[in-house]
Amino acid sequence: MLAELDIPTELCRNSYLSFHNLDTQEGLYLTLSARGAMFQGVELFRPANLKSLAKTFIGLQRAQHRLASGSLKGVTLGRCLSELPEFSGDAKIILLSALCLLSSMQVHELLASPAEFFLAKLRTHHDVISPKAVYSVRCVRDGTRRYVNALAARYRGNIRFHARIRAVERVAKGARVVMEDGSREEFAAAVFACNPDQALALLAAPTPLEIELLGAWRYKDGRVVVHRDHGSFPPRALIEAYTFLYTLHDGTMDTSVNGALWHEPQAPKDCAYISAQRPNYPIRPDLIELDTTLRTPLFDFKSVATTPRLPELNRRGPLFYCGSYFGYGLHEDAVSSAKAVAERLG
Ligand SMILES: Cc1cc2nc3c(=O)[nH]c(=O)nc-3n(C[C@H](O)[C@H](O)[C@H](O)COP(=O)(O)OP(=O)(O)OC[C@H]3O[C@@H](n4cnc5c(N)ncnc54)[C@H](O)[C@@H]3O)c2cc1C
Repeated sequence: MLAELDIPTELCRNSYLSFHNLDTQEGLYLTLSARGAMFQGVELFRPANLKSLAKTFIGLQRAQHRLASGSLKGVTLGRCLSELPEFSGDAKIILLSALCLLSSMQVHELLASPAEFFLAKLRTHHDVISPKAVYSVRCVRDGTRRYVNALAARYRGNIRFHARIRAVERVAKGARVVMEDGSREEFAAAVFACNPDQALALLAAPTPLEIELLGAWRYKDGRVVVHRDHGSFPPRALIEAYTFLYTLHDGTMDTSVNGALWHEPQAPKDCAYISAQRPNYPIRPDLIELDTTLRTPLFDFKSVATTPRLPELNRRGPLFYCGSYFGYGLHEDAVSSAKAVAERLG
């Protein structure tokens, strides 16, 4: 899509990870960037660090073998990991943190979720927890808004913001959209590019299939804070593109996902902003730039069971559906599902 829109991308040189224990103030810092490597020196290549990384990759390979053999049906991620001895200590922390990043879910939710789903996700988006991440992660030059604008350019005059839609009905010639003020408009087709629970709430008369497939999805609001408070963080040289600040209480892990915005290619070098998802540490109010909530889906046994069947919703029209829930919950999945609907519409 980016190539078709003529959007230039560039290598992201600093897409590394740090794991910092909030209680002990110790951690594993994969600081392969020049600044981080200089700060850590030989510490970076401690045998214990290399062993944890090796255990993570070997454990993942073994888990993928189990996935391929079909022996993970109905198995939770928690049970799957407990049966693989590699996933202890830092290797388990690395994997669970990365999955929190990839799913916006919390550790206790992940452990109760289907192992098959998350391992298939890692198989599909295969360079996320892999040495390949060092050279394969690319970012959009000039920021992601550039491709949003390029996508919208073709029909900018037809985009209506803040439309307050009360309901969508099937009618003989297509779809009727009923606004909150009672006005109505008819279209040949309607595409719901919103979350499945939001789509279901808009349907005036959902079919049994829509109730079954869209109704299986639950969403949660997660706090996201953009701030400049580094009080709970390791020194700046150890704060990587993503830094996981975690606690381990009675064997139960909890982590926040913190993106350091100065690792973005366009950010000024003195940028101090951190984008924290589900912060589990205190943040000084005067250093907060944005405090909001973002809704994300729960990939549990009930919701992911619908994924292979979701395309059934788009067989007949005039109502169509797309979104990242058609795949593994990432931008790329949302784009692929939208492309499938566009192709269906000709
Ligand atoms: C903090 C955070 C970081 C993330 N980072 C990444 C990342 O780095 N890479 C990645 O691939 N994914 C990431 N994700 C996940 C990614 O953002 C989602 O998978 C993706 O945005 C989902 O796209 P979507 O089009 O399915 O739905 P959404 O992006 O949720 O879009 C649905 C849209 O529908 C609109 N809508 C809802 N109801 C109505 C209505 N009644 N009328 C009109 N409009 C309506 C909503 O306002 C919303 O804009 C992240 C998620 C979060 C929360």
